[in-house]
Amino acid sequence: MDYQVIRKPKTEGPQPEPQLPAPGASCDGSIWQALQEELSWLPGGFLNKAHECIDRHALGPLAGKTALIWEGKNGEIETYSFADLKRESDKFANVLLSLGVEKGDRLFMFMERVPELYIAFFGALKVGAVVGPLFSAFGPDPVRDRLADSGARILLTQPALRRRIAEVLPDLPRIQHVIVANKGSRDAEPLLAGDLSYEDLMSTAPVELEIAKTNMFDHSVMHYTSGTTGKPKGAVHCHQAIIQQYATGKWVLDLHEDDVYWCTADPGWVTGTSYGILAPWSNGVTQVVYEGGFKASAWYEVIERHKVTVWYTAPTAIRMLMKAGAEVPKHYDLSSLRHILSVGEPLNPEAIMWGLPVFKQPIHDSWWQTETGAILISNYASMDIRPGSMGKPIPGIQAGILDDHYNPLPAGRDGHLAIRPGWPSMFRTYWSDPEKYNSRFRKGWYITGDRAYCDEDGYFWFLGRTDDVINTTGHLVSPFEVESMLLEHPAVAEAGVIGKPDPLAMEVVKAFVALKDGYEPSDQLRREITGFARKKMAALVAPREIEFLPSLPKTRSGKIMRRLLKARELGLPEGDTSTLEED
Ligand code: ATP
Ligand code: MG
Repeated sequence: MDYQVIRKPKTEGPQPEPQLPAPGASCDGSIWQALQEELSWLPGGFLNKAHECIDRHALGPLAGKTALIWEGKNGEIETYSFADLKRESDKFANVLLSLGVEKGDRLFMFMERVPELYIAFFGALKVGAVVGPLFSAFGPDPVRDRLADSGARILLTQPALRRRIAEVLPDLPRIQHVIVANKGSRDAEPLLAGDLSYEDLMSTAPVELEIAKTNMFDHSVMHYTSGTTGKPKGAVHCHQAIIQQYATGKWVLDLHEDDVYWCTADPGWVTGTSYGILAPWSNGVTQVVYEGGFKASAWYEVIERHKVTVWYTAPTAIRMLMKAGAEVPKHYDLSSLRHILSVGEPLNPEAIMWGLPVFKQPIHDSWWQTETGAILISNYASMDIRPGSMGKPIPGIQAGILDDHYNPLPAGRDGHLAIRPGWPSMFRTYWSDPEKYNSRFRKGWYITGDRAYCDEDGYFWFLGRTDDVINTTGHLVSPFEVESMLLEHPAVAEAGVIGKPDPLAMEVVKAFVALKDGYEPSDQLRREITGFARKKMAALVAPREIEFLPSLPKTRSGKIMRRLLKARELGLPEGDTSTLEED
C-alpha cells in the first residue's frame, strides 16, 4: 500500500495528554498487576464488574455525574447519573433475588437499547448471574438457539420482541421467568399470562442491596460470536475482564474525565458490551446511547447534539457514511470529536482517507474478537498510524505470527495471528463446547483464526480469516487487500473477494461488488474496474471475475460474509445463517 504514515493533527485549544505515552512501553504481564490497583475491588478481595463500573463512582465524588445520556428512537432524551444507575440496578438485583436467581444462573436480555437494558445488566451482575445480551433484530430461531444452548433461566424483553419470539418460548422449558419491560407507555400492552412486569417488580423492590461476592474468575458475561465463519459460539468471560476493559478504555479509547463517548455497537455484540457499557463506565465517563438505527444524518446529529468527543464505530458504518456522501456531514458541527476508532472488520485505508477531511483526523483501527473480551491490538491516540494496519499489541499483550505448525515466523511473513494466553479479558470457555475451546490453543498460543503479518516496526497487518485467504498458483492473496483496492474505485461502495476453485490455478480471485448510489452495473463498468484493478495490483492477484450485487451479504453486526458468497457461487449449502442480515 502506498499510503503515508498519518499523524494525528494538533487541533486548536487545550488537548488532553494521551493516556498512553509510548506504544509497547511494557510488554510483560506485570502491567496487569499494576492496573488491578486502579480498581476498587470489594472487601475481602472480591471483584464485580457492576461495582467497578457503577457503585464505586456512585459512592464517591462522581455520584451526581451523568453516566448515561439516552436518546430514544423517537427523540426522547433521558439522563442517568451514576447514583441513579446504582439505585436502579440495586433494585433490579433485589427483584432477581426475590425470583430465586442464584450465582451462575444465566439471564438473557432480548431488548432494544433502552435504559432498562443497562440497569438490568448491572443488576444481574450484582447477584452473580451471567448476562447474555441478544441483538434485538434477531428473529425467533437465533433467539431460541442461544437461549437453549445457554440454558438461560430468566429472559428480559419488551412487548414487541416478546411477541416476535412467542412461538419458540414453549420450546424453552428452562426459562422460568419472562420479564417484560414496557418502557413507559410507548408500546404498553397487557402482559401475557405468566409474564412478569419489569415496572411492577421494580416499584416494590427494596433499594438496599449487598452485592454478591464474586471472585475474579467467576463468569459474568457471555456473548455469541458473529457467525461470520460458521455457527456462532458462546464465549464466556469472567469478572476479571474488567481490568483490561478499564485499561483499554484509558489507553486505546483515550478516555478522559470530561469526555462524552459514543459507541455505536449494540450490546448484543461484544463491542456494545465491552465498549458500550464496561470500558466507559469503569472509567467514570459519560456515554451516549442512541436507540435509533443507522442513518447518516441522524448519526451526525447525535455527535453534534451531545458534543461527542470520543467515538467508537465500525468499518461497515463508515462505508455507509461514505456512501451517503461527503456533503451530508458539512451540515453538522462535528468539531467536538477528538478521537475516532473502529473495530469489527479490517478498516480499509480508503475509509481513513475519506474521513480525514470530514472529521479532521484519522480513524484509529483496533483489533479484537468476542473471545478476547477486549482490544488486543490497536492504533493509540499517541501513535502514528499506517492506514491498513491494525496497529500494535497493547502493553501486556504478546502477539505472534505462526506457521502452519504453530512456530513463530519472523517479521514480514504471513501466518496465523496468535496471542500468548493469560490476558485478563480472555474467554474462559465456549459454553457447552470445551473441546472447541481447547482446540484454539496450540503450543502455548491462542490461535485467533485470522491471518496477518507483522512488519519490521511491529505494526500488524490483517490479511483475512484463515479460511478466506486465497491460494492462486501458489501465491497467498489477502481478500482484504484486494477489497481495499477495489474501494478506491469511485463507483465501488462495497467489495467482497473470494477464491474460486480453478483446475489450473487452484483458485482464482473473484470479486463481488456493490456500487455507490448513482452508478449502474454494466459490462463497460466491469471492464473499467477490472482494468483499474490490474493497474493497481499484479495481474495475478487482481480479480479475474467481477460480479455486481445490489448489496453484499452481511452479518447483523455488519461483517461481509465471504463464506456465503463462496457457498452461493459454488452451489454449496449455506451453513449457519442465523446472523445473516435480511435485506
Ligand atoms: P465467528 O467467530 O462466529 O465466525 P466473528 O469472528 O466475525 O464470527 P467476532 O468475534 O465478532 O466474530 O469478530 C472477530 C473477528 O472480526 C476477528 O477475528 C477478525 O477476523 C475480525 N476483526 C475484528 N476487528 C478487526 C480489525 N480491526 N481488522 C481486521 N479484522 C478484524
Ligand atoms: Mg471468530
